[in-house]
Amino acid sequence: MSVARPLLSIVIPAHDEEHGIPWMIRAVADVMARLAYPYEIVVVDDGSRDATFERAAECAHAGVTVRAIRLSRNFGKEAALCAGLEAARGAAVITIDADLQHPPSTIPRMVEAWERGARIVHGVKRSRGDERWYATARAKLVNALIGRLGGIELRNASDFKLLDRQVVDVLVHELPERHRFYRGLAQWIGFEQACVEFDVAPRRVGVSHWSLSGLVGLAWTATVSFSAAPLRVVGYLGVLTLLMGLVIGGEAIWSWANGIAVSGFATTIMTLLLIGSFVMISLGVIGEYIAKIYDEIKHRPPYVVACRREPPDAAAADAPGVDAATVRSTGAAGGIRAI
Ligand code: UDP
Ligand code: MG
Repeated sequence: MSVARPLLSIVIPAHDEEHGIPWMIRAVADVMARLAYPYEIVVVDDGSRDATFERAAECAHAGVTVRAIRLSRNFGKEAALCAGLEAARGAAVITIDADLQHPPSTIPRMVEAWERGARIVHGVKRSRGDERWYATARAKLVNALIGRLGGIELRNASDFKLLDRQVVDVLVHELPERHRFYRGLAQWIGFEQACVEFDVAPRRVGVSHWSLSGLVGLAWTATVSFSAAPLRVVGYLGVLTLLMGLVIGGEAIWSWANGIAVSGFATTIMTLLLIGSFVMISLGVIGEYIAKIYDEIKHRPPYVVACRREPPDAAAADAPGVDAATVRSTGAAGGIRAI
């Protein structure tokens, strides 16, 4: 007698992916058909300006269980992943990009690792595909920064992951923070973890949405949410300026004691400017942490759902009262995400 296999969820965050999303859903469906697990595909349309939502919802009529969720505006990939994890109902949830850069053909290896007992399976980039050298350098720099300051090893890490239901529940219900860094949290959370390597495929259609400022913002969010190291650097700067003050002050006293007129107007100005800059930078860093605390205590949800389109059976199984224009929040009150 065969034992019924549990449901798997595939969560796809998508922003302006109207041309790629039907290919993506088809590719996932082809792979999943060979796996003999029931599955659902959860597409989170992250405020696209094109017909991503409609294209995704159309695929639901093509014999594939697609649940399409439309966010009320572009909240960013982290928020979209959060929405997908909250909506997913599977015993394991796979998060994968919409642009086919995370090859769906890797999913069976991830599921195998999960069957062998891993609670989290990380997709690790073996090669970065045809990425331009400056994009690779930029990503490496950001990862190095996060690794150094935030204390998380992110080399070749990706958002292509499989999470067991137990892990998803912790992320969704037990982490109250709103500003999340998915890649970092998936490592921080513990449990048995495994890695599966994959080669980054070229983007099928469309363009990457990451700008340099977006990446720097992500690196900063990651660092601030994982570490107080920048605040410690502020303290080190204070010690450095104190030492400089002692040396310069000592020299001034020595000159005065020896009857040499204190000279060095330029040195004084430079020192004042230097110390002034250190103070301003330090205030800026402290301000960033205060801003994050302010954002967290406002308790705003990380995203707002504008509407959902689900097959009737999926909608029936959903939580009562959750329909169009539903606001979902992370944490204890609502049930996650932002790496
Ligand atoms: N994405 C999103 N919201 C955004 C930006 C991107 O949901 O604000 C999605 C995008 O549609 C894709 C995935 O996140 O499925 C990765 O985005 P992208 O390909 O731009 O990033 P890259 O591969 O360059 O890291
Ligand atoms: Mg991409």
